[in-house]
Amino acid sequence: MIQKVPETLIDEKNVRVDGRELSDLRSIKIEVGVLGNADGSAYIEQGKNKILAAVYGPKELHPKHLALPDRALLRCRYHMAPFSVEERKSPAPSRRETELSKVIREALEPSIFLEYYPGASIDLFIEVLQADGGTRCAGITVAAVALADAGIPMRDLVAACAAGKVEGRLVLDLADFEDKGGEADVPVAWTPNLNALTLLQMDGMLTIEEFEQVVNMAIEGCKEIYKLQKEALKAKYVAVKEELEE
Ligand code: ADP
Repeated sequence: MIQKVPETLIDEKNVRVDGRELSDLRSIKIEVGVLGNADGSAYIEQGKNKILAAVYGPKELHPKHLALPDRALLRCRYHMAPFSVEERKSPAPSRRETELSKVIREALEPSIFLEYYPGASIDLFIEVLQADGGTRCAGITVAAVALADAGIPMRDLVAACAAGKVEGRLVLDLADFEDKGGEADVPVAWTPNLNALTLLQMDGMLTIEEFEQVVNMAIEGCKEIYKLQKEALKAKYVAVKEELEE
């Protein structure tokens, strides 16, 4: 079913199409350890986005000639399932997916102690089951949790969120309609321990003042998401503890 793009994305009371206020995140649910066969895994729903992340490693690297002498090689594949968007997407990797695999890897690398595993590989798979805008950010958020679930030593988690401009107003966490119909979209990833932005991209036009406000808004979104990531990780171990006590 092809959805119609609404004529107005934000009403005169600053309420968005999905009922959110300008600085609201979409509702987020994160589950940890959802796949039995991967070393670590997690699942996120952020609005209508549904994304799985799976991690294998650290493990012996094949082919061997890719091995790095001083650290592990992080390999990342971001992929959108053919049924993840309204019109069937080719399962073959697109240029967009190749770019997103690279920026997601670069957003996560600074948080991982890759130097602990010279010559090894850590493989990360991000599978978008349903897409509704902001999948690179939700992909980073869920991948960081899956890496932690795999027991990979990390400096901290990485949380990601976009903010942007829609119909002249600055908004947090753009859904697909807002991304396509808006003026600008700025995806940001933030890692608390280093207090560093590990992803900063921009699509569209903003003034310098708007850009600063949008980045700060996105960082506030990342802080909320970071809390949810930690709660999701803790919830897995509370469940394991309860099982052991039964
Ligand atoms: P992000 O998902 O990180 O926002 P983009 O800005 O490239 O990345 O894409 C925005 C949204 O456009 C995606 O979340 C998805 O909902 C939609 N989209 C991306 N690729 C396709 C495609 N091949 N067909 C239909 N919709 C797509």
